[in-house]
Amino acid sequence: MKKNEDYTPDQVLDICREYMNDEHVEFVNKAYNFAAYVHKEQKRATGEPYIIHPTQVAQILASLHMDPYTVAAGYLHDVVEDTNVTLGDVEELFGNQVSTIVDGVTKISKYKYHSHQELLAENHRKMLLATAKDLRVIMVKLADRLHNMRTLKALRPDKQRRIANETLEIYAPLADRLGISKIKWELEDLSLHYINPQQYYRIVHLMNSKRDQREAYIAEAIDYIKTSVDALGIKYDIYGRPKHIYSIYKKMRDKHKQFSELYDLLAIRIVVDSVKDCYAVLGSIHSKWKPIPGRFKDYIAVPKANGYQSLHTTIIGPGGQPLEVQIRTFEMHEIAEYGVAAHWAYKEGNFEGVQLDENEQKIDVFREILELQENSDNAADFMKSVKGEIFNDRVYIFTPQGEVRELPKGSIPLDFAYQVHTEVGSHSVGAKVNGRMVPLNYQLKNGDIVEMLTNESSTPSRDWIQMVYTSRARNKIKRYFRIKDRQENIQIGHELLETELKNRSLSTKKYLDKKHVELATNIFNFTDSEELYNAVGYGELSPINVIHKLISEDPENKKKAEKKELEENVITETHENAPKPIPESTKLKKEQANANTSISVQGIDNLLIRLAKCCNPIPGDDIVGYITKGRGLTIHRADCPNVQSDEAKKRFIEVSWNNVTREKRYTAELDIYAFNRNGLLNELLQVINSNTNSLINVNGRLDKEKMAVIHVSVGVNNKEHLDQIISKLKNVPDVYEIKRTVE
Ligand code: MN
Repeated sequence: MKKNEDYTPDQVLDICREYMNDEHVEFVNKAYNFAAYVHKEQKRATGEPYIIHPTQVAQILASLHMDPYTVAAGYLHDVVEDTNVTLGDVEELFGNQVSTIVDGVTKISKYKYHSHQELLAENHRKMLLATAKDLRVIMVKLADRLHNMRTLKALRPDKQRRIANETLEIYAPLADRLGISKIKWELEDLSLHYINPQQYYRIVHLMNSKRDQREAYIAEAIDYIKTSVDALGIKYDIYGRPKHIYSIYKKMRDKHKQFSELYDLLAIRIVVDSVKDCYAVLGSIHSKWKPIPGRFKDYIAVPKANGYQSLHTTIIGPGGQPLEVQIRTFEMHEIAEYGVAAHWAYKEGNFEGVQLDENEQKIDVFREILELQENSDNAADFMKSVKGEIFNDRVYIFTPQGEVRELPKGSIPLDFAYQVHTEVGSHSVGAKVNGRMVPLNYQLKNGDIVEMLTNESSTPSRDWIQMVYTSRARNKIKRYFRIKDRQENIQIGHELLETELKNRSLSTKKYLDKKHVELATNIFNFTDSEELYNAVGYGELSPINVIHKLISEDPENKKKAEKKELEENVITETHENAPKPIPESTKLKKEQANANTSISVQGIDNLLIRLAKCCNPIPGDDIVGYITKGRGLTIHRADCPNVQSDEAKKRFIEVSWNNVTREKRYTAELDIYAFNRNGLLNELLQVINSNTNSLINVNGRLDKEKMAVIHVSVGVNNKEHLDQIISKLKNVPDVYEIKRTVE
């Protein structure tokens, strides 16, 4: 795909002519003429005639060999949104297929929604649902976004950043899930250029600085490898593999590597005719050069979910330098670059017979998207689940039968069980991972072999609702409890609300009287009070949430005199996992007795407990207790390097966090790694100050390569609070890594 140089409509037709018959080329031309006519008065932000944009979009689609309807839709994608033409006009002139695609990429009218956020989420949802019905919608949308990103320069900087962020959040992950790497890479590189220009240019500069040296090395390595592959007597291509700026940036940021430490900058690709040849090439390379352990991946035997296949290995190449080698067939290469678009490529003669449904079934991701839609209340919810579960990293696990399953990262065996079948989920009693029993809340890792243990008579447990990661599993569990026993739920809901009120030393008599319950029933939109209790009972509505509303909406409490008490009692956090406050009545006593009542030790009372100064554990961390002679018990983070020896482990005692009060402050020590620039420190401190009122200490240093390491000590409530601060700090431009420090 070329950049910075626009294609003419004639050139687009030339590309079409390479793979379409005359009638179809004429159809595309008709779409061009229509678009040129209706857009003729309009200009782009660059000042150029508007038609240049649809022409480039059509060109991108034609270069992917998309069918004539899709290329025509490329020409027509903006006519409904930006001109007087209606969808009905498009359907009448170009048929139902084209109008369906154009409808899918047309935004919803601005005037229906209150906030920009709401409108944005609605538009994303509309586009995704249209795509789930016809994948060609996303092909046009990606081509549209790609050309917009290529010409983003013309917009205001704030708009540039907003669009680039949206591209990284929605469109690049979508392209990735569909396997269209060619578009994904370009979108990512262009986005980084606008979101983080300093880093972008720094990496470009670093890549250029030793380019000659690297290219000479690759040429040498290719000669070396050729000598052994030639001996196989097969046909093959071999070449140095280009690296993408964003992927380098991500490695530096996520793995905290310096540029000089990234050895996969040196990479070679070998493309052959058959799978057999792939393994033959791998064998001949491994028999001559040592592979680096843990770096070999067989994506041919176990393809990625988006269909990607290849062999990856890293060998100690000539001169002792690590060298990454990818081996694949020509067919796999097509799919690696073009993903679903490769399956879809129009083939002259059989185009009319393409069965879209059959192809769509292969794309699991859109089945999942439809499922999320069924279970979301609104567009914002829906997009949150899509980002968390579909665009996030995935883990690949195996069934005992060797079948590969894909789940969002963070999933537990129960998520897997519910993915297999609702019945497997509901009857789960335990799970084995790699042959060993694990707790049901074990976090699945890549390559785990997962076996569910079930029992016909066993039923789901209520705490599973909080444990599972995927909304699919959560909804199935909720549904189970909703139906199971309504009366029981009403009873449990009643009890849960009573307990929560008692925990806050509030009168159950007062807040659960007819007047208050009616108030809550109305606020949460239930038909009657039983439905309210029922919802609390089966876990749809958190009791904290109800009590918050009861207190804040109580007419009496609105009086100024009680305002202070109100602030103390109201829990603003409505997240279901939020820690419950310690009951007021016991809180004072406990705090006087021991500063660390936030930790409980199994079976032991009155032990002197201290938090280790080396790793500073905070509520929510995995912790261990370490017995010191005469000095009681020290609490370390489970991963603290100071307590990893076998000797130390003998002195471990099992401990856990109690429910912790929100006021309690714990110190967390962080190292922030960033590329230094003017104003960096200032921005970091602003983020910290707006998220905690307790900044304890700051110091920093610079290394030779202008990399800054800034150490901060901050007061936090718990791990959730700390994670929030860390994720906001990571959004500051030029920050690429944040670590909790251990002494
Ligand atoms: Mn457009």
